[in-house]
Amino acid sequence: MTASLPPESVSALLQERIYVTQPHLPPLEEFLPYLEQIWHSKVLTNGGPFHQRLEQALCDYLEVPHLSLFSNGTLALVTALQALRITGEVITTPYSFVATAHSLLWNGIKPVFVDVDPVTLNLDPAKIEAAITPQTTAILPVHCYGHPCDVEAIQRIADMYNLKVIYDAAHAFGVRTEAGSILRAGDLSVLSFHATKVFNTFEGGAIISPDAKTKQRIDRLKNFGFVDETTVVAPGINGKMSEINSAFGLLQLQHIDDALARRRAVAQRYAEQLAGVRGIRLLPACNDPISNHSYFPILVENEYPLSRDALFESFRAQDILVRRYFYPLISDFPMYRGLPSALRASLSVAADAASKVMCLPIYPTLTEAQQARIVEIVRANAG
Ligand SMILES: *Cc1c(COP(=O)(O)O)cnc(C)c1O
Repeated sequence: MTASLPPESVSALLQERIYVTQPHLPPLEEFLPYLEQIWHSKVLTNGGPFHQRLEQALCDYLEVPHLSLFSNGTLALVTALQALRITGEVITTPYSFVATAHSLLWNGIKPVFVDVDPVTLNLDPAKIEAAITPQTTAILPVHCYGHPCDVEAIQRIADMYNLKVIYDAAHAFGVRTEAGSILRAGDLSVLSFHATKVFNTFEGGAIISPDAKTKQRIDRLKNFGFVDETTVVAPGINGKMSEINSAFGLLQLQHIDDALARRRAVAQRYAEQLAGVRGIRLLPACNDPISNHSYFPILVENEYPLSRDALFESFRAQDILVRRYFYPLISDFPMYRGLPSALRASLSVAADAASKVMCLPIYPTLTEAQQARIVEIVRANAG
């Protein structure tokens, strides 16, 4: 095939842009019957039939007791903190997407940043206790790249100091350990179904709660605080997921196992082909069988001939849109850097990771040929 193409189209093929992720979209024809149903029923939102079905289907798939859908993960985080009436100070990680800490500011809560573990890049339980003050009411850890936090150690600390634990589980869709779904850890877990995530509803999110009463409170908070037509019990927000997004989620769920298997194959190839490249560190979680392979981070160490940013530019120059997740640290953004806990000296592990990390493209339809190009750039620059 390729041999018969004129040279310009061959180079066009070679120059094809590769994104860090691509949403896994089912064939459009499969979605049309869902749309027809919505058009016929004229139920567009407010907990319609697709919304109800998706909540149940996700509880079954994720093996969690109760789940409330949201219009996005950030509003779900904001609401999770309100549902548990969190105030004062909350201990969290600087090594995450900025929405983690923003959800605290939106609730008038003071974030207290604690450094991460050098191997997992998750909140380091050994450093949490020193950051607890009389104002501390909760811990907000992130299962970074879908790799489970040390949930037992975190729970022990929370129990000892009577703190709530809310997991930002935006990366951890479907992650299970021997103890079962990681989404059952802590008091609440929050998911994101943004287009860039492993499971997406275009925009969307969810809170997982342990009991029906908590779910009921969350469901009220995401609908302005309404209990019935005339009763409002709290200053709730509008965080509802629409029927279109819910229907799309139901369809996506039918393809999720296939998508996860394809991601795993991509991760395994990277792990094989990048193992032993001097100066490139892979996180142990990258090729872990429990991983959902939502990201493929590499750390560009000092022994690598190029700096992380030089390697990043070399990818960009070839139209491969790798991303520096997570850089800068949340604690370096202007609305956080004045906090006492934002000092670089106490966040040295996170700062080091942020200066070295780069996430390689990973998604179900990434081809072996595309992946070979990506690996070749890392290897060729390794000298
Ligand atoms: C994506 C993400 C969010 C925000 O989710 P949205 O659905 O985009 O609002 C929060 N935390 C982390 C760690 C994320 O990756």
